[in-house]
Amino acid sequence: MRVLAAEVKNHLNTEVEVKGWVQAIRTGGSIAFIDLRDVSGHVQCVVAKKENASIFEELRTLSRESVIEAKGKAVESQAKQGYEIQVNKFKILNKSLAPLPLGVVDMVDSDIETRLENRFLDLRKPKILSIFKVQDTISRAVRQYFHQNGFIEVRTPKIVAAATEGGTELFPVKYFDRSAYLSQSPQLYKEIMMSAGFDRVFEIAPAFRAEEHNTTRHLNEFTSIDIEMSFVDDEEAMRVLEEVIKVSSKMVIEENSKELELLGITSPKTDYSFKKISYAECVKIANDKGIKVDDGEDLSTPALKAIGEGLNEFYFITRWPRKLKPFYVQPFDEKYSRGFDLQFGEVEITSGAQRVHNPEILIKNLEAKGLNVESFEFYIKAFQYGMPPHAGWAIGLERLTMVLLNLQNIREATLFPRDRTRITP
Ligand code: ATP
Repeated sequence: MRVLAAEVKNHLNTEVEVKGWVQAIRTGGSIAFIDLRDVSGHVQCVVAKKENASIFEELRTLSRESVIEAKGKAVESQAKQGYEIQVNKFKILNKSLAPLPLGVVDMVDSDIETRLENRFLDLRKPKILSIFKVQDTISRAVRQYFHQNGFIEVRTPKIVAAATEGGTELFPVKYFDRSAYLSQSPQLYKEIMMSAGFDRVFEIAPAFRAEEHNTTRHLNEFTSIDIEMSFVDDEEAMRVLEEVIKVSSKMVIEENSKELELLGITSPKTDYSFKKISYAECVKIANDKGIKVDDGEDLSTPALKAIGEGLNEFYFITRWPRKLKPFYVQPFDEKYSRGFDLQFGEVEITSGAQRVHNPEILIKNLEAKGLNVESFEFYIKAFQYGMPPHAGWAIGLERLTMVLLNLQNIREATLFPRDRTRITP
Protein backbone atom coordinates (compact mmCIF):
# COMPACT_ATOMS: atom_id res chain seq x y z
CA MET A 1 0.00 0.00 0.00
CA ARG A 2 1.21 3.49 -0.80
CA VAL A 3 2.45 5.51 2.16
CA LEU A 4 3.06 9.26 2.00
CA ALA A 5 6.63 10.41 2.59
CA ALA A 6 5.71 12.20 5.82
CA GLU A 7 4.07 9.06 7.19
CA VAL A 8 7.00 6.70 6.62
CA LYS A 9 8.19 7.41 10.16
CA ASN A 10 5.04 5.76 11.49
CA HIS A 11 5.86 2.52 9.66
CA LEU A 12 9.41 1.82 10.83
CA ASN A 13 10.61 -1.76 10.42
CA THR A 14 7.84 -2.61 7.98
CA GLU A 15 7.59 -2.75 4.19
CA VAL A 16 6.33 0.47 2.64
CA GLU A 17 5.74 1.75 -0.84
CA VAL A 18 6.30 5.40 -1.75
CA LYS A 19 5.62 7.25 -4.99
CA GLY A 20 6.72 10.69 -6.02
CA TRP A 21 9.36 12.90 -7.63
CA VAL A 22 13.14 12.61 -7.53
CA GLN A 23 14.05 15.75 -5.66
CA ALA A 24 17.75 14.86 -5.54
CA ILE A 25 19.82 11.86 -6.48
CA ARG A 26 23.37 10.79 -5.62
CA THR A 27 24.84 7.63 -7.06
CA GLY A 28 28.01 5.89 -5.96
CA GLY A 29 29.60 2.62 -7.05
CA SER A 30 27.16 0.33 -5.36
CA ILE A 31 24.53 2.49 -3.76
CA ALA A 32 22.21 5.34 -4.78
CA PHE A 33 20.51 7.86 -2.49
CA ILE A 34 17.28 9.31 -3.79
CA ASP A 35 15.38 12.02 -2.04
CA LEU A 36 11.76 11.33 -2.97
CA ARG A 37 9.23 14.13 -2.63
CA ASP A 38 5.44 13.97 -2.61
CA VAL A 39 2.63 16.24 -1.46
CA SER A 40 3.40 15.51 2.19
CA GLY A 41 7.17 16.03 2.30
CA HIS A 42 10.21 13.98 1.37
CA VAL A 43 12.03 10.80 2.36
CA GLN A 44 15.40 9.25 1.57
CA CYS A 45 15.35 6.02 -0.45
CA VAL A 46 18.49 3.92 -0.59
CA VAL A 47 18.90 1.72 -3.65
CA ALA A 48 21.61 -0.95 -3.47
CA LYS A 49 23.11 -2.15 -6.74
CA LYS A 50 23.06 -5.78 -5.73
CA GLU A 51 19.31 -5.77 -5.09
CA ASN A 52 18.34 -3.64 -8.06
CA ALA A 53 20.99 -4.54 -10.60
CA SER A 54 18.78 -4.16 -13.66
CA ILE A 55 17.82 -0.57 -12.87
CA PHE A 56 20.95 0.67 -11.15
CA GLU A 57 22.71 1.78 -14.34
CA GLU A 58 19.63 3.76 -15.33
CA LEU A 59 19.76 5.60 -12.03
CA ARG A 60 23.16 7.04 -12.91
CA THR A 61 21.54 9.18 -15.58
CA LEU A 62 18.07 9.61 -14.04
CA SER A 63 17.10 13.26 -14.18
CA ARG A 64 15.77 15.16 -11.20
CA GLU A 65 11.97 15.53 -11.05
CA SER A 66 11.36 12.17 -12.73
CA VAL A 67 8.45 10.23 -11.20
CA ILE A 68 9.31 6.98 -9.44
CA GLU A 69 7.94 4.36 -7.10
CA ALA A 70 9.96 2.47 -4.54
CA LYS A 71 9.18 -0.40 -2.18
CA GLY A 72 11.27 -1.44 0.76
CA LYS A 73 11.79 -1.55 4.47
CA ALA A 74 11.57 1.67 6.48
CA VAL A 75 14.42 1.73 8.98
CA GLU A 76 16.06 4.13 11.40
CA SER A 77 19.26 5.53 9.91
CA GLN A 78 21.88 8.26 9.82
CA ALA A 79 19.81 10.17 7.25
CA LYS A 80 18.92 13.73 8.23
CA GLN A 81 15.37 12.72 9.07
CA GLY A 82 16.58 9.80 11.18
CA TYR A 83 15.08 7.14 8.93
CA GLU A 84 15.13 5.94 5.32
CA ILE A 85 13.74 3.27 3.03
CA GLN A 86 16.00 0.38 2.03
CA VAL A 87 14.64 -0.24 -1.42
CA ASN A 88 14.13 -3.74 -2.76
CA LYS A 89 11.86 -2.85 -5.67
CA PHE A 90 12.23 0.26 -7.77
CA LYS A 91 10.44 1.59 -10.84
CA ILE A 92 10.77 4.69 -12.98
CA LEU A 93 7.24 5.73 -13.88
CA ASN A 94 8.09 8.73 -16.05
CA LYS A 95 11.31 10.55 -16.76
CA SER A 96 11.69 14.31 -16.64
CA LEU A 97 13.46 16.26 -19.34
CA ALA A 98 16.63 18.04 -18.34
CA PRO A 99 17.63 20.72 -17.75
CA LEU A 100 14.59 21.96 -15.82
CA PRO A 101 13.24 25.35 -16.95
CA LEU A 102 12.87 26.17 -13.25
CA GLY A 103 14.62 24.60 -10.30
CA VAL A 104 12.41 23.09 -7.62
CA VAL A 105 14.89 22.90 -4.75
CA ASP A 106 17.45 25.50 -5.83
CA MET A 107 18.19 28.16 -3.28
CA VAL A 108 18.22 30.98 -5.84
CA ASP A 109 14.88 32.68 -6.29
CA SER A 110 13.59 32.95 -9.84
CA ASP A 111 11.66 35.99 -10.97
CA ILE A 112 7.88 35.77 -10.80
CA GLU A 113 7.41 35.70 -14.59
CA THR A 114 9.65 32.60 -15.00
CA ARG A 115 7.88 31.01 -12.05
CA LEU A 116 4.41 31.64 -13.48
CA GLU A 117 5.51 30.51 -16.93
CA ASN A 118 6.52 27.17 -15.36
CA ARG A 119 3.90 27.17 -12.64
CA PHE A 120 3.54 23.35 -12.44
CA LEU A 121 7.20 23.19 -11.38
CA ASP A 122 6.95 26.25 -9.14
CA LEU A 123 3.99 24.67 -7.35
CA ARG A 124 6.12 21.59 -6.58
CA LYS A 125 8.15 23.72 -4.16
CA PRO A 126 7.05 22.85 -0.62
CA LYS A 127 6.89 26.52 0.30
CA ILE A 128 4.61 27.39 -2.61
CA LEU A 129 2.43 24.34 -1.99
CA SER A 130 2.08 25.59 1.60
CA ILE A 131 0.31 28.74 0.41
CA PHE A 132 -2.38 26.64 -1.22
CA LYS A 133 -2.68 24.26 1.71
CA VAL A 134 -3.37 27.33 3.86
CA GLN A 135 -5.83 28.66 1.28
CA ASP A 136 -7.63 25.32 1.40
CA THR A 137 -7.91 25.65 5.18
CA ILE A 138 -9.28 29.18 4.86
CA SER A 139 -12.00 28.16 2.42
CA ARG A 140 -12.87 25.15 4.57
CA ALA A 141 -13.08 27.30 7.71
CA VAL A 142 -15.25 29.85 5.97
CA ARG A 143 -17.62 27.22 4.54
CA GLN A 144 -17.88 25.49 7.91
CA TYR A 145 -18.69 28.78 9.64
CA PHE A 146 -21.40 29.60 7.11
CA HIS A 147 -23.00 26.19 7.35
CA GLN A 148 -22.98 26.32 11.14
CA ASN A 149 -24.63 29.73 11.04
CA GLY A 150 -27.62 29.12 8.81
CA PHE A 151 -26.23 30.18 5.43
CA ILE A 152 -27.28 28.39 2.24
CA GLU A 153 -24.61 28.03 -0.42
CA VAL A 154 -25.77 29.35 -3.79
CA ARG A 155 -24.43 29.58 -7.33
CA THR A 156 -25.39 32.61 -9.33
CA PRO A 157 -24.80 33.14 -13.06
CA LYS A 158 -21.41 34.26 -14.27
CA ILE A 159 -22.72 35.34 -17.65
CA VAL A 160 -24.80 38.45 -17.13
CA ALA A 161 -26.65 40.99 -19.22
CA ALA A 162 -26.02 44.11 -17.15
CA ALA A 163 -23.13 45.51 -15.20
CA THR A 164 -23.48 45.27 -11.43
CA GLU A 165 -22.41 48.82 -10.89
CA GLY A 166 -22.49 50.13 -14.41
CA GLY A 167 -18.72 50.15 -14.34
CA THR A 168 -16.43 49.87 -17.30
CA GLU A 169 -14.44 47.01 -15.78
CA LEU A 170 -16.33 44.35 -17.70
CA PHE A 171 -15.29 41.62 -20.09
CA PRO A 172 -17.79 41.42 -22.94
CA VAL A 173 -18.74 37.98 -24.24
CA LYS A 174 -20.63 37.09 -27.37
CA TYR A 175 -23.90 35.47 -26.33
CA PHE A 176 -25.40 34.16 -29.57
CA ASP A 177 -26.77 37.28 -31.25
CA ARG A 178 -26.64 39.45 -28.13
CA SER A 179 -23.90 40.95 -26.05
CA ALA A 180 -23.32 39.86 -22.48
CA TYR A 181 -20.58 40.16 -19.86
CA LEU A 182 -18.64 38.04 -17.44
CA SER A 183 -19.94 38.77 -13.97
CA GLN A 184 -17.87 41.21 -11.91
CA SER A 185 -19.78 40.39 -8.71
CA PRO A 186 -22.84 38.35 -7.62
CA GLN A 187 -24.20 41.51 -5.92
CA LEU A 188 -27.53 41.79 -7.72
CA TYR A 189 -28.28 38.08 -7.57
CA LYS A 190 -27.43 37.62 -3.93
CA GLU A 191 -29.79 40.50 -3.11
CA ILE A 192 -32.50 38.90 -5.23
CA MET A 193 -32.00 35.77 -3.10
CA MET A 194 -33.08 37.85 -0.09
CA SER A 195 -36.34 38.63 -1.84
CA ALA A 196 -36.52 34.90 -2.65
CA GLY A 197 -36.62 34.27 1.10
CA PHE A 198 -33.36 32.32 1.47
CA ASP A 199 -32.57 34.50 4.53
CA ARG A 200 -28.78 33.98 4.46
CA VAL A 201 -26.72 32.96 1.44
CA PHE A 202 -23.07 32.61 0.59
CA GLU A 203 -21.20 31.99 -2.62
CA ILE A 204 -17.53 31.27 -3.31
CA ALA A 205 -16.99 31.80 -7.01
CA PRO A 206 -14.91 33.59 -9.61
CA ALA A 207 -15.43 37.28 -10.34
CA PHE A 208 -14.07 38.93 -13.45
CA ARG A 209 -12.76 42.49 -13.63
CA ALA A 210 -11.32 44.03 -16.77
CA GLU A 211 -9.14 46.40 -14.76
CA GLU A 212 -6.43 47.81 -16.96
CA HIS A 213 -3.92 48.33 -14.19
CA ASN A 214 -1.41 45.63 -13.43
CA THR A 215 -0.84 45.87 -9.67
CA THR A 216 0.33 43.49 -6.95
CA ARG A 217 -3.21 43.53 -5.52
CA HIS A 218 -5.42 43.11 -8.58
CA LEU A 219 -6.26 40.08 -10.67
CA ASN A 220 -8.57 40.01 -13.66
CA GLU A 221 -10.16 36.84 -12.32
CA PHE A 222 -10.35 36.35 -8.55
CA THR A 223 -12.32 34.27 -6.08
CA SER A 224 -15.00 36.23 -4.33
CA ILE A 225 -16.48 35.02 -1.04
CA ASP A 226 -19.85 36.72 -0.91
CA ILE A 227 -22.57 36.74 1.71
CA GLU A 228 -25.97 38.37 2.06
CA MET A 229 -28.21 38.26 5.15
CA SER A 230 -31.82 39.32 5.65
CA PHE A 231 -33.15 41.41 8.54
CA VAL A 232 -29.72 42.64 9.66
CA ASP A 233 -27.83 45.92 9.44
CA ASP A 234 -24.24 46.93 8.65
CA GLU A 235 -23.15 46.36 12.28
CA GLU A 236 -24.24 42.72 12.17
CA ALA A 237 -22.57 42.22 8.78
CA MET A 238 -19.31 43.54 10.27
CA ARG A 239 -19.64 41.26 13.28
CA VAL A 240 -20.04 38.22 11.02
CA LEU A 241 -17.03 39.30 8.96
CA GLU A 242 -14.92 39.66 12.07
CA GLU A 243 -15.92 36.15 13.15
CA VAL A 244 -15.23 34.66 9.73
CA ILE A 245 -11.70 36.07 9.74
CA LYS A 246 -11.08 34.99 13.32
CA VAL A 247 -12.25 31.40 12.72
CA SER A 248 -10.24 31.11 9.54
CA SER A 249 -7.01 32.42 11.04
CA LYS A 250 -7.56 30.18 14.07
CA MET A 251 -8.02 27.11 11.89
CA VAL A 252 -4.90 27.99 9.90
CA ILE A 253 -2.87 28.25 13.10
CA GLU A 254 -4.27 24.95 14.36
CA GLU A 255 -3.88 22.96 11.17
CA ASN A 256 -1.03 24.54 9.24
CA SER A 257 1.83 24.98 11.70
CA LYS A 258 4.21 23.20 9.32
CA GLU A 259 3.16 25.36 6.38
CA LEU A 260 3.36 28.58 8.41
CA GLU A 261 6.87 27.66 9.45
CA LEU A 262 7.89 27.02 5.84
CA LEU A 263 6.47 30.42 4.98
CA GLY A 264 8.51 32.06 7.70
CA ILE A 265 5.59 32.90 9.97
CA THR A 266 6.84 31.82 13.36
CA SER A 267 4.47 33.63 15.67
CA PRO A 268 1.17 34.19 13.87
CA LYS A 269 -1.02 36.93 15.29
CA THR A 270 -4.21 35.75 16.95
CA ASP A 271 -5.58 38.79 18.76
CA TYR A 272 -6.95 41.06 16.05
CA SER A 273 -9.00 43.95 17.40
CA PHE A 274 -11.03 45.00 14.32
CA LYS A 275 -11.10 48.67 15.23
CA LYS A 276 -13.76 50.77 13.52
CA ILE A 277 -12.64 54.10 12.10
CA SER A 278 -15.15 56.32 10.32
CA TYR A 279 -14.32 57.78 6.93
CA ALA A 280 -14.37 61.28 8.50
CA GLU A 281 -11.78 60.20 11.09
CA CYS A 282 -9.67 58.65 8.33
CA VAL A 283 -9.61 61.93 6.44
CA LYS A 284 -8.45 63.68 9.60
CA ILE A 285 -5.74 61.06 10.34
CA ALA A 286 -4.38 61.28 6.78
CA ASN A 287 -4.38 65.08 6.78
CA ASP A 288 -2.71 65.18 10.22
CA LYS A 289 0.02 62.94 8.81
CA GLY A 290 0.55 65.28 5.89
CA ILE A 291 -1.32 63.29 3.22
CA LYS A 292 -3.87 65.65 1.78
CA VAL A 293 -7.39 64.25 1.42
CA ASP A 294 -10.36 66.50 0.71
CA ASP A 295 -13.56 65.69 2.54
CA GLY A 296 -15.65 63.51 0.21
CA GLU A 297 -12.66 62.35 -1.83
CA ASP A 298 -11.73 58.64 -2.09
CA LEU A 299 -8.88 57.48 0.15
CA SER A 300 -5.75 57.10 -1.94
CA THR A 301 -3.12 54.41 -1.34
CA PRO A 302 -0.78 56.89 0.42
CA ALA A 303 -3.71 58.00 2.60
CA LEU A 304 -4.56 54.37 3.44
CA LYS A 305 -0.89 53.73 4.21
CA ALA A 306 -0.91 56.64 6.62
CA ILE A 307 -4.14 55.45 8.25
CA GLY A 308 -3.01 51.82 8.53
CA GLU A 309 0.49 52.74 9.68
CA GLY A 310 1.45 51.07 12.92
CA LEU A 311 -1.81 49.09 12.84
CA ASN A 312 -0.45 45.70 11.74
CA GLU A 313 -4.06 44.73 11.91
CA PHE A 314 -7.47 44.47 10.37
CA TYR A 315 -9.61 47.59 10.75
CA PHE A 316 -12.94 48.77 9.39
CA ILE A 317 -13.52 52.03 7.62
CA THR A 318 -17.17 52.88 8.19
CA ARG A 319 -19.69 55.58 7.22
CA TRP A 320 -18.35 56.22 3.75
CA PRO A 321 -19.76 59.20 1.86
CA ARG A 322 -22.74 58.10 -0.21
CA LYS A 323 -21.21 59.43 -3.36
CA LEU A 324 -18.20 57.09 -3.05
CA LYS A 325 -20.33 53.96 -2.65
CA PRO A 326 -22.53 52.12 -5.17
CA PHE A 327 -26.25 52.79 -5.63
CA TYR A 328 -27.31 49.75 -3.59
CA VAL A 329 -25.70 50.99 -0.35
CA GLN A 330 -28.18 52.17 2.30
CA PRO A 331 -27.85 55.85 3.24
CA PHE A 332 -27.00 56.66 6.86
CA ASP A 333 -27.93 60.31 6.54
CA GLU A 334 -27.83 62.97 3.82
CA LYS A 335 -24.08 62.69 3.41
CA TYR A 336 -22.94 59.31 4.69
CA SER A 337 -23.81 55.69 3.96
CA ARG A 338 -23.96 52.35 5.77
CA GLY A 339 -21.14 51.05 3.60
CA PHE A 340 -17.90 49.78 5.12
CA ASP A 341 -14.54 48.39 4.02
CA LEU A 342 -12.28 46.06 5.91
CA GLN A 343 -8.62 46.93 5.54
CA PHE A 344 -5.33 45.35 6.45
CA GLY A 345 -2.79 48.15 6.29
CA GLU A 346 -3.38 49.82 2.94
CA VAL A 347 -4.92 46.70 1.39
CA GLU A 348 -8.69 46.53 1.07
CA ILE A 349 -9.90 43.06 1.94
CA THR A 350 -13.65 43.44 1.96
CA SER A 351 -16.34 45.86 1.08
CA GLY A 352 -19.79 45.52 2.49
CA ALA A 353 -22.87 47.42 3.51
CA GLN A 354 -26.37 47.44 4.66
CA ARG A 355 -28.24 47.65 1.37
CA VAL A 356 -31.12 49.73 0.20
CA HIS A 357 -34.34 47.69 0.44
CA ASN A 358 -36.86 50.32 -0.59
CA PRO A 359 -37.42 50.17 -4.38
CA GLU A 360 -38.12 53.91 -4.68
CA ILE A 361 -34.83 54.83 -3.02
CA LEU A 362 -33.10 52.26 -5.21
CA ILE A 363 -34.46 53.82 -8.41
CA LYS A 364 -33.54 57.32 -7.18
CA ASN A 365 -29.98 56.16 -6.44
CA LEU A 366 -29.64 54.51 -9.86
CA GLU A 367 -30.76 57.73 -11.51
CA ALA A 368 -28.47 59.83 -9.34
CA LYS A 369 -25.51 57.68 -10.42
CA GLY A 370 -26.49 58.14 -14.06
CA LEU A 371 -27.31 54.46 -14.58
CA ASN A 372 -29.92 53.12 -16.95
CA VAL A 373 -32.85 52.06 -14.73
CA GLU A 374 -34.29 49.87 -17.50
CA SER A 375 -31.33 47.53 -17.57
CA PHE A 376 -31.83 46.88 -13.85
CA GLU A 377 -35.51 46.03 -14.22
CA PHE A 378 -35.12 42.33 -13.33
CA TYR A 379 -33.39 43.41 -10.13
CA ILE A 380 -35.74 46.21 -9.12
CA LYS A 381 -38.70 43.88 -9.60
CA ALA A 382 -37.42 41.70 -6.74
CA PHE A 383 -37.66 44.79 -4.50
CA GLN A 384 -41.26 45.59 -5.45
CA TYR A 385 -42.89 42.43 -4.07
CA GLY A 386 -41.54 42.18 -0.54
CA MET A 387 -37.81 42.71 -0.10
CA PRO A 388 -36.53 42.41 3.49
CA PRO A 389 -33.89 44.79 4.86
CA HIS A 390 -30.53 43.12 4.25
CA ALA A 391 -26.77 43.50 4.46
CA GLY A 392 -23.73 41.65 3.19
CA TRP A 393 -20.15 41.79 2.00
CA ALA A 394 -17.58 40.38 -0.38
CA ILE A 395 -14.08 39.34 0.47
CA GLY A 396 -11.40 38.33 -2.02
CA LEU A 397 -10.01 34.90 -1.11
CA GLU A 398 -6.62 35.73 -2.64
CA ARG A 399 -6.37 39.04 -0.78
CA LEU A 400 -7.26 37.35 2.49
CA THR A 401 -4.61 34.67 1.86
CA MET A 402 -2.15 37.39 0.97
CA VAL A 403 -2.55 39.35 4.19
CA LEU A 404 -2.73 36.31 6.48
CA LEU A 405 0.52 35.01 4.98
CA ASN A 406 2.18 38.38 4.52
CA LEU A 407 2.64 37.83 0.75
CA GLN A 408 3.74 40.81 -1.29
CA ASN A 409 2.02 39.91 -4.55
CA ILE A 410 -1.53 38.61 -5.02
CA ARG A 411 -0.25 36.34 -7.82
CA GLU A 412 1.45 34.26 -5.10
CA ALA A 413 -2.02 33.39 -3.77
CA THR A 414 -3.43 32.31 -7.14
CA LEU A 415 -2.63 29.01 -8.85
CA PHE A 416 -2.78 30.40 -12.38
CA PRO A 417 -3.17 34.17 -12.23
CA ARG A 418 -4.99 36.10 -14.90
CA ASP A 419 -3.53 39.57 -15.13
CA ARG A 420 -3.27 42.33 -17.73
CA THR A 421 -0.70 40.38 -19.77
CA ARG A 422 -1.16 36.76 -18.76
CA ILE A 423 -3.81 34.25 -19.85
CA THR A 424 -1.60 31.13 -19.99
CA PRO A 425 -0.81 28.76 -18.39
P1 ATP B 1 -10.07 47.86 -5.11
O1 ATP B 1 -10.52 49.22 -4.70
O2 ATP B 1 -8.97 47.31 -4.26
O3 ATP B 1 -9.80 47.73 -6.58
P2 ATP B 1 -12.83 47.20 -5.25
O4 ATP B 1 -13.34 48.34 -4.46
O5 ATP B 1 -12.97 47.19 -6.72
O6 ATP B 1 -11.30 46.90 -4.83
P3 ATP B 1 -14.96 45.47 -4.48
O7 ATP B 1 -15.65 45.61 -5.77
O8 ATP B 1 -15.50 46.16 -3.32
O9 ATP B 1 -13.43 45.87 -4.67
O10 ATP B 1 -14.74 43.91 -4.20
C1 ATP B 1 -14.77 43.31 -2.92
C2 ATP B 1 -13.49 42.59 -2.60
O11 ATP B 1 -13.12 41.73 -3.68
C3 ATP B 1 -12.28 43.49 -2.41
O12 ATP B 1 -12.23 44.00 -1.12
C4 ATP B 1 -11.15 42.54 -2.69
O13 ATP B 1 -10.88 41.70 -1.57
C5 ATP B 1 -11.70 41.69 -3.80
N1 ATP B 1 -11.30 42.23 -5.11
C6 ATP B 1 -11.90 43.19 -5.83
N2 ATP B 1 -11.29 43.41 -6.99
C7 ATP B 1 -10.26 42.54 -7.03
C8 ATP B 1 -9.24 42.24 -8.00
N3 ATP B 1 -9.18 42.89 -9.15
N4 ATP B 1 -8.35 41.29 -7.70
C9 ATP B 1 -8.41 40.61 -6.55
N5 ATP B 1 -9.34 40.83 -5.59
C10 ATP B 1 -10.25 41.78 -5.82
